[in-house]
Amino acid sequence: MTHDRNVALITGGAKGIGRAIAARLIADGWTAVLLDIDGEAGRRTAAELGERALCLDGDVARDDDVARTVARIGDRFGRLDAVVNNAGIMVRKPPEDLGLDDWQRVLGTNLSGAFLTAKHAAPLLREARGAIVNIASTRAHMSEPHTEAYAASKGGLVALTHALALSLGPEVRVNCVSPGWIDTSGEVLTDDDHRQHPAGRVGRPEDVAGLVAHLVGEQSGFVTGAEFVVDGGMTRKMIYV
Ligand code: NDP
Repeated sequence: MTHDRNVALITGGAKGIGRAIAARLIADGWTAVLLDIDGEAGRRTAAELGERALCLDGDVARDDDVARTVARIGDRFGRLDAVVNNAGIMVRKPPEDLGLDDWQRVLGTNLSGAFLTAKHAAPLLREARGAIVNIASTRAHMSEPHTEAYAASKGGLVALTHALALSLGPEVRVNCVSPGWIDTSGEVLTDDDHRQHPAGRVGRPEDVAGLVAHLVGEQSGFVTGAEFVVDGGMTRKMIYV
């Protein structure tokens, strides 16, 4: 299905999963506006993705950056049909060493950023009867040691998803996607890395992008407030050593 003239804002769209989401939406006929703190990489990506991609520099954790970005989208396109809150960072430190600044930086990007885009984009999204997709993580539900801030931010994002679905509906649908291990770095993966997944392989950015494309489309009109796990089955696997 094509979505002529539909416009999506994808945060953290310069690289990795965000880039794959932008590429998929463009292939489906959308225009993709990337908002990324790494403006140089973002502009390079937008140039590679073609004329229906555009990158704006900005920090999702900053109210004024997000407000300015949404205003520029309104001025340029007159509409906004989807927001994908994908920008995210992780700090791995034992809780005893995790500074309040680390904690706030992670929560600011991963959680406050999603609140700010929803807040500022709500009028345009309502007008377009659009959708928000938040990229959370299976770490909202399970953990490795030393990932407190990240886990808390992603758990918060799952809760923010259903709260926003109630506040912005029925005009705007709000869902979240929780990926497991998605290879974005191109590192060498072992057979064990792949085989431990019930699906038989580590995830790819395109696995997430496909689901996001489905959720922002009209075919998902009865889907809101929900979380979708894309993890090759890992969170369903019982592990006793
Ligand atoms: P990447 O680090 O590859 O890309 C994220 C992009 O977001 C980068 O360009 C980054 O810039 C940018 N960014 C970081 N902070 C901000 C900010 N404050 N404002 C705007 N842009 C920002 O991430 P991934 O593609 O791996 O992950 C994307 C999302 O998916 C994240 O939310 C992550 O938590 C989630 N996720 C990823 C998984 C995985 O296995 N890869 C698994 C589960 C969830 P810079 O590089 O300069 O920091």
